[in-house]
Amino acid sequence: MRVFTAALATETNTFSPIAVDKRAFEASLYARPGEHPATPTLCTAPITVGREVCAREGWTLIEGSASWADPAGLVARATYEELRDEILEQLRAALPVDAVVMGLHGAMVAQGYDDCEGDLLARVREIVGPDVLVCAELDPHSHLTRKRVTAADFLVAFKEFPHTDFVDRARDLWAIAVRTLKGEIKPVMSVFDPRMIDVFPTSRQPMRGFVDQLYALEKSEPNLLSLSVIHGFMAGDVPEMGTKIIALTDDREDLGDTLAERLGRELFAKRGTFMVPQVNEAEAVEQAMAATSGPVVIADVWDNPGGGTAGDATVILADLIRRGISDVAVGTIWDPIAVQICFAAGEDAEIPLRFGAKSAPHTGNPIDRLVRVNRLVRDAQMRFGDSYAPFGDAAWISFDGIDVILNSTRAQSFDPSLFSALGIDPKSRKILLIKSTNHFYDSFSKIAFEIIYCAAGKPYPNKPAETAYRKAPRNIWPIVEDPWGA
Ligand SMILES: [Zn+2]
Repeated sequence: MRVFTAALATETNTFSPIAVDKRAFEASLYARPGEHPATPTLCTAPITVGREVCAREGWTLIEGSASWADPAGLVARATYEELRDEILEQLRAALPVDAVVMGLHGAMVAQGYDDCEGDLLARVREIVGPDVLVCAELDPHSHLTRKRVTAADFLVAFKEFPHTDFVDRARDLWAIAVRTLKGEIKPVMSVFDPRMIDVFPTSRQPMRGFVDQLYALEKSEPNLLSLSVIHGFMAGDVPEMGTKIIALTDDREDLGDTLAERLGRELFAKRGTFMVPQVNEAEAVEQAMAATSGPVVIADVWDNPGGGTAGDATVILADLIRRGISDVAVGTIWDPIAVQICFAAGEDAEIPLRFGAKSAPHTGNPIDRLVRVNRLVRDAQMRFGDSYAPFGDAAWISFDGIDVILNSTRAQSFDPSLFSALGIDPKSRKILLIKSTNHFYDSFSKIAFEIIYCAAGKPYPNKPAETAYRKAPRNIWPIVEDPWGA
C-alpha cells in the first residue's frame, strides 16, 4: 500500500486583529516533506503515527509538507493558497496512492475562504478520485461543514480539552484506515447537529462524564468505530459554525444516526453548564483581596492568546492599580514595542513607559507609568508539560509594588515558570494575574491558594448571543433560546 500524509493547520479567530502570513507558520512549524520532527505538534500527529504504522505494515508512507501557525486572525489568501497547492502538488506527484491521511485543525479561515479544510479535502478528493480512502484528524474547536463530510471518508477529532489525546486519536484514525484498506470494515459517517455553540472543558463535569461515556460506547457497541464531538469554535464567524456529533460505524448508518442524535440531544440538554462560572474584574479583585493567603491566581480567561487574541488587555490590571493594590505579579502582557524600549533602556533603568491594550478594542487602555526595568531575557520560555513554550524577548518591569512581565511572542500563561524565567518567585506574591482559559489549571493549581476565573472586557467573542456575527447560523443556542421550537 502507498499512503500520502500531510498537515495544514491553524485556528482562526476571525475577530482577532493579528493577521497570519507565511511567517506565522514558519515561526510555529513549517516542515517540508521528510523534515517533520519525531514529535508531533498537535495537528501533525497523523504524520508521526503514520511513520510507525506504515513501518509496521510494510507500507510506503509518502510525506507531504506540514504547517501549523499558532491561533490568531485571518490567514492571508496567498499564504493559504501557497500552502494548499504545495500539498496538492506533492499528492499529484505521489500518485497512485491507496489512501490520504491528513492532519488538520478544522477552524482555519483565510481571506476569501470560509472553509479552508473543506476546500482542501474537496481538492484532494478531486485528485485521487472516489475510490481512494481520504481521512483526517481534527481539533474539536472546528467547524464541521457538509463539504468536508462529503469529501472525506471519515473524520476523527480529539476528545479531550485540554487536548491531551491528540496522539491517541491519530492512532484511532490510522487503526480505522488500516482496517479499511485491508477490507475488514467499511466506515460510514453519521452527523447530528444539536443546534448549539458552547465551550466544553473535559477536565470537569458534566463534559468529563460525557466523554467517558463516548469511550465506553466505543468499547461496548459492536459496529461502532469512533465517536467525536466537534465542540465548534465561536470565534470563527463562518456559515457552519456550531457544535456537531460524528458517529462512525462499520456500514451501519442507522446505528450511527441513532447514536449521534441521542448524544447530541444529551449535550443540548446540558447547554450552559459546561464552563466554570466567571466573575467580572471588580469581583475578581475584591475576592483576591479578601483571600487570607496567597498566591491567588486571577485568570483573565478570555484574553487568551491560545484562542487567537492579542494577549495585551489591561482591564484587570487597571482595576488593581486604581485600588492601590500591591504584591501583584502579572504574566504576561504582549507588547513587543514596549519590550524593545526596555531593552534599549537596559536593566536597572527607570523610564516612562506606555504598555498594553494597543491591539484591539474593548481590552482597556494602555498603562502609562514610570517603571523600573528589573530584568531582560532574550528568547524567554516557560514549561508546558514535558515541553517548553517560547514567549520571546521579555522584560520584567515594576512600579508601585506591581511586577509586570512584558513579552514579544504571544503566548498563553501555561505554567508558573513564566515568572521564574524572569527571576520572580511566583509563590512570593499575593496575587498572580495570568492569561489563559483552561490550560493553566494543572500547573497553577499546584501553587495557588485560590483560583479566580475572570471575564474582563471583551477581547474575545465569548457571548455568542451578543456577538455581531455576519455569517454564523442564527438558529442555534444561545443566539436563540429554543432553536428546536417554532
Ligand atoms: Zn482546540
